[in-house]
Amino acid sequence: MESNFTPKDAYLSHFKPRTYLETYYTLAPNPSKEDQILKFILRKMAEIFCPDKMKGDLLIEVGSGPTIYQFLSACEIFKEIVATDYAEQNLEEINQWLKKEPGTFDWSPVVKYVCELEGDREKWTEKKEKLRQKLKQLLKCDVTQSQPLGSVSLPQADCLLSIYCLETACKDLPTYQQALKNISSLLKPGGTLVLFSVLKGHYYMLKDYKFSILPLTPEEIKDALEKAGFECDKSEVIPRNYDKAHVNHDGIIIWVGRKLK
Ligand code: SAH
Repeated sequence: MESNFTPKDAYLSHFKPRTYLETYYTLAPNPSKEDQILKFILRKMAEIFCPDKMKGDLLIEVGSGPTIYQFLSACEIFKEIVATDYAEQNLEEINQWLKKEPGTFDWSPVVKYVCELEGDREKWTEKKEKLRQKLKQLLKCDVTQSQPLGSVSLPQADCLLSIYCLETACKDLPTYQQALKNISSLLKPGGTLVLFSVLKGHYYMLKDYKFSILPLTPEEIKDALEKAGFECDKSEVIPRNYDKAHVNHDGIIIWVGRKLK
């Protein structure tokens, strides 16, 4: 049977970084469902990436998209952060932010919010600079390949992060399970995996373009993680949803665990 699942090359031609950022990441003065979820995720990130609980030199993220919000707490811990994505235009959007090119997406409201959470709202310009220094590499990646970074070789990470990538990159459960094994190669044995996924998703919208999501239950995700050699420290199902006009899904899972030695 032919699959209708969005093929990865549609990400190259149809994933518009600015549309994505403006739909999901603007923190508008009149809070939307998107804003509430973003703030919730930032609070979770501040808890997970708390210097008392987590240590390490290198964090690698797979499927970063065009966003940097996910590194704002982590940049207080890791010496080096590597962002990756299948679509080069997303890496280019981050690169423009790193280089402070005029007209790039304004992350200031998000950075200020994180600084407030961390208890020092004055230091937001400093935090931006810290992240700019720590975000050292932007690399092409394909989670469906056994070597997701191709011929690029990096030390294995102390922490591997992935948010809403695998369920959008994998057309079925076997592909999802294999992708977890593929990305596991980027993480040190004993290293921490932080995974955020939408649950029971079908699609999300970028203006009029529909991108597929693999519908997954918490049990399927946990089972796939276990089969890929990860052990759970903490997982939480969050009964929150994005605006129905933007994402069709039923909740979010946050899963933190370790790659078994
Ligand atoms: N992590 C970001 C973006 C999620 S959108 C956020 O928190 O908003 C899903 C991302 O997965 C897109 O940026 C898309 O380009 C990327 N992606 C899709 N297929 C992929 C693949 N096979 N390998 C790596 N990344 C992929």
